[in-house]
Amino acid sequence: MKKILAMAWVCVWTAVVCVAAPGTLTQWSTIDALLKGYYDGVATLGEVKQQGDFGLGTFEALDGEMLMVDGTVYQIDAQGVVRTPDDAVRTPFAAVTFFKTDIELTLPAGLTLDQVQARVDAALPSMNLFYAIRVSGGFSEVRTRSVPRQEKPYPELAEVVKGQSLFTISSTEGELIGLRCPGFSKGVNVPGFHFHYLAADRKSGGHVLGLVTGDEVRVRVAVLREFSMKLPKSATFDALDLSGDRSKELHAVESERK
Ligand SMILES: [Zn+2]
Repeated sequence: MKKILAMAWVCVWTAVVCVAAPGTLTQWSTIDALLKGYYDGVATLGEVKQQGDFGLGTFEALDGEMLMVDGTVYQIDAQGVVRTPDDAVRTPFAAVTFFKTDIELTLPAGLTLDQVQARVDAALPSMNLFYAIRVSGGFSEVRTRSVPRQEKPYPELAEVVKGQSLFTISSTEGELIGLRCPGFSKGVNVPGFHFHYLAADRKSGGHVLGLVTGDEVRVRVAVLREFSMKLPKSATFDALDLSGDRSKELHAVESERK
């Protein structure tokens, strides 16, 4: 009996100390480290799931696009195949939260990605906070990409995206899983919006480059006022030169080429 009580106490204590509360964004590594080609795993998906049920990232060796929704992690590989990887799989970069809706709105059909983002911006209380955003419904088109698994020595991300796979998903029902980070988070995460898409049938998705809403879509936003950053315990990370401004490179890597 004493042993059972002791175990229960440890669990409660662990829950209080280790698990992030809603309203907190927990992130591993930095976007600039990823741009520099730091694709070594820094946490397991099991560890990531302790800090959130919703978020974005990628996998060790840059093996595709990652999103987490309702506690399940999905991997969209360079062939466009969607998987639910094992908890032992590692990530070099991820940002997650326990999603709790603070703001809700609906948007009409026929909006582009830029228009969706402008409408969401208009509903936000401030540009100085982090937000988790889910947009659910029908889309007449979602344009996505994924990236192929890399071998060491890892090339920088700008090199990798030259070989990215592009997908156009037409007449699709599904969900955009996204973050909006403030301008001052430059170098740490992606300033502005960053969405990954998962079709409701779990058969397609990826990093979102463009879209058109095909239906009225439901937008839910979680306001995140706390930010927790976990930097890799690694001599390689310690030796990276992260001093420069890589904003232009990030924009080229994240957006659609026009
Ligand atoms: Zn992405």
